[in-house]
Amino acid sequence: MIITDNHMHLHNHLGLEAIKQFKRAGGTHVILISNLAHHYGVFPLKGEDFVRIYDRHLSVVREANEIVRTYPVIGVHPAEITILGDKLGYERASSIMKRGIEIAVEYIKEGRAIGLKTGRPHYPVDEHIWKLSNEVMRYAFELAGDHAIPVQIHTESYTFDGMKEVSEIAKEAGLPPEKVIKHYSPPEPGEFARTGIFPSIIAGKDVIKAVEQNSRFVMETDYMDDSRRPGAVLGPKTVPKRVRELLSRGVDEEIIWKICRDNIEKLYEIDLDSS
Ligand SMILES: [Zn+2]
Repeated sequence: MIITDNHMHLHNHLGLEAIKQFKRAGGTHVILISNLAHHYGVFPLKGEDFVRIYDRHLSVVREANEIVRTYPVIGVHPAEITILGDKLGYERASSIMKRGIEIAVEYIKEGRAIGLKTGRPHYPVDEHIWKLSNEVMRYAFELAGDHAIPVQIHTESYTFDGMKEVSEIAKEAGLPPEKVIKHYSPPEPGEFARTGIFPSIIAGKDVIKAVEQNSRFVMETDYMDDSRRPGAVLGPKTVPKRVRELLSRGVDEEIIWKICRDNIEKLYEIDLDSS
């Protein structure tokens, strides 16, 4: 069986032990997302400073890949707009972020990562910051659209209208919404299918509700590995645990293959069996 977690982080809590726990629980494939710049002790003053972040992330992915098959997604977290902007001004923050995204796209074109991360703040911001954030996200979509790159987005909490809007931005930017993966999605794949955006559903107990709608989704824990908030979101063993639970509740094995293998292979254009 292939069991994939579509969105995990490694930071300063369990580190690689989290990947070992995932493997011991039955997990086989992980998509590891780069963190906020300050998690690497970097305060970017120019887009090129993201090189240090991406390189550090890729080296963590290489180590994790010795344990289970691990793939990197890199990019600029949308919260950088306030972290950087509060000190440098928001216009300057947004241009640093755009340059950081350009560099991430170069890495992805070279095959060093499988997807791009972007989005817009998940917390309330003023109109100016919201506008700049949407511009950064649109720019990321434009670059991704040019090269058929899948994009994981971190955004405000799900609403149908919000996702519909993001879907429109993607279309205008030339990126098919099917290539936009909404990280931290609720178990509503039926609604997501109508927006075009692809949901990465949090592997909580209510995933069963998702399976009852359709199998157009992937699963994630958003495991944070943050020593200050060790219990935040879900632990690294959750996706394998949830898969076993779904199977024991009579969910067809074919559905799990679809969610954990076929959908991932199609989104990222990778072959999980060969790895
Ligand atoms: Zn995350």
